[in-house]
Amino acid sequence: MFELENNVRKNILQLKAYSSARDEFSGKDGVFLDANENPYGSLNRYPDPQQKKLKNKLSELKSIPVENVFVGNGSDEVIDISFRIFCEPGKDKALTFSPTYGMYDVSSDINNIELIKIPLDDTFQIDFKTLETHLKDNDLKLILICSPNNPTGNILKNIDWILERFKGIVIVDEAYIDFSKSDSYISKIEKYPNLIVSQTFSKAWGLAAARVGTAYSDSKIISLFNKVKAPYNVSELNQIAAINALENFKEFSEKREIILQQKLWLENELSLIPLVKKVYPSDSNFLLIETLDANKIYKNLVAQKVITRNRNSLVKNCIRITVGSSEENIKLINALKKN
Ligand SMILES: *Cc1c(COP(=O)(O)O)cnc(C)c1O
Repeated sequence: MFELENNVRKNILQLKAYSSARDEFSGKDGVFLDANENPYGSLNRYPDPQQKKLKNKLSELKSIPVENVFVGNGSDEVIDISFRIFCEPGKDKALTFSPTYGMYDVSSDINNIELIKIPLDDTFQIDFKTLETHLKDNDLKLILICSPNNPTGNILKNIDWILERFKGIVIVDEAYIDFSKSDSYISKIEKYPNLIVSQTFSKAWGLAAARVGTAYSDSKIISLFNKVKAPYNVSELNQIAAINALENFKEFSEKREIILQQKLWLENELSLIPLVKKVYPSDSNFLLIETLDANKIYKNLVAQKVITRNRNSLVKNCIRITVGSSEENIKLINALKKN
């Protein structure tokens, strides 16, 4: 059985959250002399610390109560906060798979948490047999699963197997889920009280500059997130940008459709280029390709001002390519042909 209290650091359980000046009064028409703000200007007031309007919109879109929604300064904040809540520095461990998103390493290092990495199999799926031997480790508190996975692009199958067995916290990072045909794990947060699903406005929503990430989980976990976050963690400008994006759902889904069509075009073009050995199947907005010589091809592309991500150190001779606009994709293909 999962018991939240057994999985939260003692100091966090005992923590008394900072109560911001505006937490006690939510009207807009008062005389606000409580927060030492400047009375003049247009960005002079602190933003809503609880992002109520944005959370209400997310709650509607995802069909879950607002108590289950957290909004952070990018989804990287969700990962960092999770380490701080659930893992005792210098003692507890976390686990992920490799290759995967590089920020898990950085965030665990910053928090002084050992990160165990289990290699994915040759189809980039989870090796459950190896994983099983680690689940008995009492110091293992957190499992990070990126699905669709970066940089391999594929959905990881059967995450339920982990949720049913592991007594710690499971984070499913769904930064790319909007590009996938698979369902989000958000629908399973009621079933699994140890599940945190993280999503972002940085990819399909086109707001990477705004730094808005979201997490969906049991309301008790969301309360802990709210206790640990910086009081005004999402700026007013960024809250407005995210609200505007949600109000323009049609634009979001049209752009997404174009990107997915461009992905098909790019997959086909890439497969016709002799120095591309393999185009891996992708459930996201990028393609991992295996080439004859990734270092050389990568440098040659940079020389032609086409920037891709050389993943040779993670997956031999592989390059990760984001699906761009039609013009950008044509430039990439032309540049590759000049290799
Ligand atoms: C891009 C990406 C994110 C997004 O992080 P933000 O901080 O929200 O911009 C999260 N996870 C993965 C795996 C990513 O590739």
